[in-house]
Amino acid sequence: MRITRILAYRVDLPLHETTYKWSGGKSVTVFDSTVVRVETDAGIVGHGEVCPLGPFYLPAYAEGVRSGIRELGPHLIGADPRQLTKLNGVMDAALKGHAYVKSGIDIACWDILGQFAGLPVCELLGGRYGDDFHLYRAISQESPDAMAARVAAYRAEGYRRFQLKVGGDPDVDIARIHAVAAVLQPGDRLIADANTGWTQHEAMRVVKGVRDVDVYLEQPCLSYEECLSVRQHTNHPFVLDENIDGLDVLLRARADLAMDVVNLKISKFGGLTKTRQARDLCASMGVAMTIEDSWGGDIVTAAIAHLAHSTPTPLLFTSTDFNSYVTVSIAEGAPQRVNGRLAASTKPGLGITPRLNVLGAPVVVVE
Ligand code: MG
Repeated sequence: MRITRILAYRVDLPLHETTYKWSGGKSVTVFDSTVVRVETDAGIVGHGEVCPLGPFYLPAYAEGVRSGIRELGPHLIGADPRQLTKLNGVMDAALKGHAYVKSGIDIACWDILGQFAGLPVCELLGGRYGDDFHLYRAISQESPDAMAARVAAYRAEGYRRFQLKVGGDPDVDIARIHAVAAVLQPGDRLIADANTGWTQHEAMRVVKGVRDVDVYLEQPCLSYEECLSVRQHTNHPFVLDENIDGLDVLLRARADLAMDVVNLKISKFGGLTKTRQARDLCASMGVAMTIEDSWGGDIVTAAIAHLAHSTPTPLLFTSTDFNSYVTVSIAEGAPQRVNGRLAASTKPGLGITPRLNVLGAPVVVVE
């Protein structure tokens, strides 16, 4: 089987909540997502999606996905999309870095492999664990009372895990964490994600200010070293995210005992192939994981679901259903949340069919 054509579509994804705000005053109102379509000479077609969290979250931006595919695409015409390790080698040889550019192509090729094999991607990624898995709900940064109200409302929809966007003024963040903790019930889990927004002394004040709250702390500061120092001064469960973008730093963080949970985002690692490698390594080392992506619509959500559902249940801390945050559906067959939980499709491949009328005309065609 050979790749004959690679196309990319640009799609806007507005939010039900109209805006999503996190540390440092950063916000997005409409997400710019790229859907990737890989066509083959066997008539099998696969799809992927990449959606950065704006241009100021990770070293990634929406137009960069399209530009990168224009650069990378010609190197992949004629390659066998089922040979994913080889394919990633070709991508890494042709374009150094830019993991997020490669993510959508890699996801699309897993979709092709699954359709070719007649198996859901989660079974190819190691096997399905249980009927479904936990989701968290991200709570956009607002006043403490508004965030507590959001948590109560999402709790009523079935979510039991809540990730607060903090990383603002430390005193307000302490109030945010206390206000939300007050509306939680036994069994709920609370994560305070500062998204690198605190300096080290601010983070130290926050961990002291929420000493008696049952809360996980995620990525308090910008650098790994700052986070490690904060980690060494608190006994709150600790999550690393932005700093962990490859195996080297993952192994270093494990050796330093720098985290209890790691956040693995598919486009941060460069696709399902590389995130699966990190996932399997974490599973072998006993490190729990949040498995998700930076953002996305139905296709990203489907890819997340296949990776999350093939992760051993005790080590899957939580995951995300981004397609329920946005107002536009870009594919049929994507997984839909039930009682705060999600399950990967049982159909071959990702199990999705893109809505071509929503995607419109391709903005990149490589053949
Ligand atoms: Mg995070």
